[in-house]
Amino acid sequence: MVCDKTVVCDKTVECDHTVKVLILGGTTESRALASALDTVQGIDTITSLAGRVTRPILPVGQTRIGGFGGPEALAVWLRDNAIDVVVDATHPFASTIGAHAEQATRASGVALLVLTRPPWTAGEGDRWTSVASLPDAASAITPGSRVFLTTGRQGVRYFACVDHSWFLVRSIDPPTGPVPPHMTLHLSRGPFDIDHESTLLADNRIDLLITKNSGGDMTRAKLDAARVTSIPVLVVDRPVRTGSAPTVFDVAAAVDWLANRSSAAS
Ligand code: NAP
Repeated sequence: MVCDKTVVCDKTVECDHTVKVLILGGTTESRALASALDTVQGIDTITSLAGRVTRPILPVGQTRIGGFGGPEALAVWLRDNAIDVVVDATHPFASTIGAHAEQATRASGVALLVLTRPPWTAGEGDRWTSVASLPDAASAITPGSRVFLTTGRQGVRYFACVDHSWFLVRSIDPPTGPVPPHMTLHLSRGPFDIDHESTLLADNRIDLLITKNSGGDMTRAKLDAARVTSIPVLVVDRPVRTGSAPTVFDVAAAVDWLANRSSAAS
């Protein structure tokens, strides 16, 4: 049996046209994409992780860990590793690596696809205030607040100067930089459900939630719990992404895009 190059098949037949895909990862979606592509004939993947988390959940397939050393070094890495396509499946707030991916793919003539989660949007009963940045969120806190801070450990430093409120800080690993003087650290990794989040809000008498607009289901339950209990939320807007790379919002669309590219290249 030979490979039918016009379709994406199940890796059970010999095939000589392989599209090499670098997945910039560190997200649930990047792992789901690596899993989905694992059985696709004609596509080989390698997932890149920044190495921020001490015990990362590894995707299936090949992985590499650590920064590339900037956009020029990334472009060299793409050439050295014969990468055909980069999928930027990083977190919507990982704006530096996103910009580097744009620059490096442009410089090396490699295709780029962005896989990102749709942002969360407020619904009936939500008491959201949008802010442009983490420092803006810190400035918007009313003195005497009891804040549930879910901005990730790298964001905690922006709240270190807020000495008039108490913080419940949730992160996967402990923050490494400065932290607010009045805080309790809660180390935990999602997904979380609404019962868990409601209990956390009630037990800690939280009266303000601060979150980045990360999107996705893994960490959305805190917003549902805040809605039910009518707790106000400061939502940090996503950084604006520049560049012209095509963007998809779910893994199935990314697989289709790559499959079409794989067939067109063969
Ligand atoms: P960032 O600020 O955009 O990137 C900073 C530097 O980290 C980049 O210049 C790059 O170093 C390196 N880097 C980032 N992502 C990388 C990857 N997937 N593979 C190899 N190097 C990478 O990134 P960040 O916000 O610190 O996020 C780091 C990672 O954590 C990302 O992979 C992201 O998906 C994940 N994450 C981020 C958040 C968040 O809120 N920011 C939340 C959950 C998960 P070089 O310049 O040396 O190449």
